[in-house]
Amino acid sequence: MEVQEVELVMSAVAASQYPTTGYPEIGLVGRSNVGKSSLTNVLINRKSYARTSSQPGKTRTLNFYEVEKQLYFVDVPGYGYAKVSKKEREKFGVMIEEYLTQRDQLRGVIQLVDGRHAPTDDDVSMYQWLRYYHIPTLIVATKIDKIKPAVRNRETSLIRKTLNMNADDELLLFSAQTKLGKDEVWQWIEKKIGG
Ligand code: GDP
Repeated sequence: MEVQEVELVMSAVAASQYPTTGYPEIGLVGRSNVGKSSLTNVLINRKSYARTSSQPGKTRTLNFYEVEKQLYFVDVPGYGYAKVSKKEREKFGVMIEEYLTQRDQLRGVIQLVDGRHAPTDDDVSMYQWLRYYHIPTLIVATKIDKIKPAVRNRETSLIRKTLNMNADDELLLFSAQTKLGKDEVWQWIEKKIGG
């Protein structure tokens, strides 16, 4: 999809604020700093539209980006951020869990992991959790430009093994810098939204 039109329509703190247009939604999850804003900006052809983690206070909302009046990218806040109080985290965790397990419009989730390292325990828990709920998930390994082509296969195997992925579970390599993987990520999204 070649995106011309995109708008952050809602930063929701409660389910009552979610959009009601009925467009399909694709969730984006990953630890802060993994490259989620960068991936989103590449997908929507913008230099800096999606927020970045430099605004930590703003990252505790579910951000709905309406794309081409056809779908939403839903930025699901990063797990593993330490500064939020326990109480706040609990309250917020419930909202995210309900969103991911109960939202009819949600067609799939893109989980980002840092392509330079083995996935963290948080990454593993998140992936297992998504699988447990049978939520269609694409793993995207980010910052691949930082890895030499010769060792990319080895890194891919490490990610697959650490996340305990099945052979038919989907993983793509991505770089916001070179745009490697952009078309493949879009193909996955289009397949999920039936476009
Ligand atoms: P977020 O917190 O997950 O939204 O992460 P950001 O998109 O803000 O990225 C965090 C940092 O990683 C920034 O300094 C980005 O410039 C850098 N970054 C993100 N994606 C890539 C990538 O594909 N390649 C490289 N080299 N750096 C990246």
